[in-house]
Amino acid sequence: MRKPIIAGNWKMYKTLSEAKTFVEEIKGLAPDYEKVDTVICAPALFLEQLTQELSGSNIHVGAQNMHYENEGAYTGEVSPVQLADIGVDYVILGHSERRQYFNETDDGVNKKVLAAFANSLTPIVCVGETLDERETGNTTSKVEGQVEKGLANLTEDQVKQTVIAYEPIWAIGTGKTATSEDANEVCGAIRSKVESLFGQQVADAVRIQYGGSVKPENIRELLAMEHIDGALVGGASLQSSSFLKLLEAGANV
Ligand code: 13P
Repeated sequence: MRKPIIAGNWKMYKTLSEAKTFVEEIKGLAPDYEKVDTVICAPALFLEQLTQELSGSNIHVGAQNMHYENEGAYTGEVSPVQLADIGVDYVILGHSERRQYFNETDDGVNKKVLAAFANSLTPIVCVGETLDERETGNTTSKVEGQVEKGLANLTEDQVKQTVIAYEPIWAIGTGKTATSEDANEVCGAIRSKVESLFGQQVADAVRIQYGGSVKPENIRELLAMEHIDGALVGGASLQSSSFLKLLEAGANV
């Protein structure tokens, strides 16, 4: 069985003192890492502090983006070497907000995924369709294309370690969750695509999260589905009490 992975994506929320308070509130309470992988993806500014506070705990720290070069004249960017150096374990890549507002492309995401592995970071690769694409029947072709391009040139072992997050854009921050059946259907299509590209063993191992208005009230139903191995959570990850409930659900699938 694939171990569930619950990741909070704080986006551009919280001050440093709020981040510290959150960590103090959850530190000893996160479930056993043998039951669920827990990740907090915080603004870059807080990452060093969080890796220090959470070292030796059951909680991993993730970034929300990075550049694909190890270093260079890229004002305002953060490199994979810099993230790995301060103890970051995961990095979200190709989030729809980055694709939408910062012009990220599948090709750029692929470069970042390769750079993540070159620096021992685990990528959480986001894919998902717009409302228009869903309504015109293009959901599967959209996410399959994102998976194929995003994971190009990876080894089978790297794909096994990759986390794919299916986040329908129309469900992000809107309170409209995909039904568990719809989410499972797309996650199943993603797994089939991985199988056609990298083989069955890889497809059986790769973890696929659902993201989009996940809350303590709906997470159990989503995690009960065959192809959903975790959640990438925005709004409901910002309060320690609700994040802990999400982790509890992840630990008891
Ligand atoms: P919400 O959980 O706020 O809908 O955000 C989902 C998301 O974008 C996580 O990356």
